[in-house]
Amino acid sequence: MEYNQLLFKHKNTLQLNMSEKEKDKIKEQQLEHEQHKENNEPIIDYDTVKMWLEERVHQTITSKHKDFDMMNKILQKHPNFNEWKNKNCEAFKITRSAKNKALQVHIKMTNSFNTQEEKPKINTLKTLKKKEQNEWRIVSWVACAKGKIGQSSSDKNRLTQAMRFSIRKQIKNFRDTNCYNPKCALCEKTNQLEVDHYPLTFATMRDDFLSNMNDVDKIKIRWDKNKISYRFGKGEDINTKWQRYHSKRATYRWLCSDCNKRMNKKK
Ligand SMILES: [Zn+2]
Repeated sequence: MEYNQLLFKHKNTLQLNMSEKEKDKIKEQQLEHEQHKENNEPIIDYDTVKMWLEERVHQTITSKHKDFDMMNKILQKHPNFNEWKNKNCEAFKITRSAKNKALQVHIKMTNSFNTQEEKPKINTLKTLKKKEQNEWRIVSWVACAKGKIGQSSSDKNRLTQAMRFSIRKQIKNFRDTNCYNPKCALCEKTNQLEVDHYPLTFATMRDDFLSNMNDVDKIKIRWDKNKISYRFGKGEDINTKWQRYHSKRATYRWLCSDCNKRMNKKK
C-alpha cells in the first residue's frame, strides 16, 4: 500500500475510539496532511512508518525500487540527519532483530561519493563488494519517525517521556531476563512483543508518584538529541526518586503490539 493511503487508513481506524479533542487533533493533522500533499510531502509519524516497514519486512530497497524515495524521506527525518557527513543512502534493508523481533532498518551509504559522476568504475566496485558486510549499518527508524514530532510535545508529554527514559534500564532488564520463549500474555503471539506494565500501568504509577510531588512544573527537563528523548535535567533528584519508586512497584508482562494497542485504548 502507498504510504499516504496507509496513513489515512490508520487515522480512520483510530478515530472510532477517540474523544472530541483527539478528533480535533486528527483534523488538524489532516489539514497539515493536505498541505503536505500540495507540496508532495508525506507526514512521517511513528504508527504509519511502523506499518509501512512491517509491510516491507525482509525486503532490500535499492535506488530503482518504487519505495526508495519514501524510505529516503523517512531517513531524512532523522533528528541528526543534517549533521551527517555522508547523506547519500544507496539501499535500505528491513529486517527483524533476532532477539525480540523488533523491526530494524539497515542502510548502506554511497561511500563518500557525493554525486553520480563521482561513482567508481566497475573494477573498484568489485573491491567495494568485499567490504559489503561492513557497509550496512542500523539506523533508528523510531528516531526518524518520532524525532521532530517528539521534540514538539506538550509539557505533560515531555514529563512522561523523561519519566519513561529514566526507567528504560529497568525495562531493558526485564527484556534481557525474560527473553526465553516470550509470548503475548493475551493471544500467545511470539513476535512484535512489547513490555507492558502489569497489573499496575505506567500511567497509574506516574500519576501516583507525581501527586506526591511538590512543584511538578518546576522539574527541569531537557531534550537529548542523541537519545531522541526528553530527559530530566542533570542533577534533578526526581530522577533517582522516580527510579526507586518505579523499581519497587513495577511488574511486567509481554504483549504483542496489537494487544498492547487494544489495551491502551481501553485505559
Ligand atoms: Zn497479543
